[in-house]
Amino acid sequence: MKPVIEFKDFSFRYKSQTEDTLKHIDLTIYEGEKVLITGPSGCGKSTLSSCINGLIPFSFDGEIKGSCKIDGFEVKDASIFQMSSRVGTVLQDSDAQFVGLSVGEDIAYALENDNMPRVEMLPRVYESAKIVDMHNFLEQVPYDLSGGQKQRVALAGIMHDDVKILLFDEPLAALDPMMGNFAIDLIDRIHTDYNKTIVIIEHRIEDVLYRNIDRIILMKDGTILADMTPDELLVSDLLKENGVREPLYITALKNAGCKLESHDISNVFDMDLTPYKDKVISNFNQANLHHEVEKNEVI
Ligand code: ADP
Ligand code: MG
Repeated sequence: MKPVIEFKDFSFRYKSQTEDTLKHIDLTIYEGEKVLITGPSGCGKSTLSSCINGLIPFSFDGEIKGSCKIDGFEVKDASIFQMSSRVGTVLQDSDAQFVGLSVGEDIAYALENDNMPRVEMLPRVYESAKIVDMHNFLEQVPYDLSGGQKQRVALAGIMHDDVKILLFDEPLAALDPMMGNFAIDLIDRIHTDYNKTIVIIEHRIEDVLYRNIDRIILMKDGTILADMTPDELLVSDLLKENGVREPLYITALKNAGCKLESHDISNVFDMDLTPYKDKVISNFNQANLHHEVEKNEVI
């Protein structure tokens, strides 16, 4: 497999900071992978994402040490065009990405990198909007859309053929659980149908694991603490120990004293719960008994 994101002993310090925000990052992400980056607030996830999409060094000043190659280009030496044509980013706040008066104009603006004639542009805008199911909204004012719809418009704008990496920084932040599922489904469909490399930054792990993820990268204090499959990470206590909430069913099974198998546990709807059933029932009964006693005590 070909690496598309390659950090080697990479450190970054913002100009206004006295210490490095990213410290000795070693991370390789391969073409076609779907990776989740997680970690507590302030650990450097968005900074890492800015290194992947070229905002660092183009928009944020600072000092880079080590190497970061995106699709073979060293970010220190690349042009902003080389970066933006390869990496498409959907930000936390999609509003910030809108410039046009209509959804169609916005998608056109984002897709356009040379002066393509309008007659060629229109079908491309329609096609991109159709991928994200927003083709019936092209005339609408972007600001009137819901959070989920805005996100889909932002995504339509980065569906170029040459964009290899799709980067989502907290795509679930502004969405309710149902819209969150919808967004994760859409990202999954785009991953399968368009063979993009997908990087999702999110601390709502359970919601992201609603669809398959190849690897989870756990960050803390500007370093990478773990780089493993979802199953391996969920068996461990690394999430809880480092300030990230693990999926509730995993916590419940662990609390019931179940020893988790290290395969097929990353999606509660797909996993085989049979091995844990007896333990959970006996734990539940014990908890009930305890509750009865407490009730009696009050009486
Ligand atoms: P996360 O996305 O994991 O919450 P960030 O990458 O946003 O973390 O922030 C990591 C650290 O870098 C924080 O301490 C934050 O204050 C600092 N930081 C983020 N952006 C900037 C910036 N533009 N200039 C200076 N410091 C920044
Ligand atoms: Mg962030």
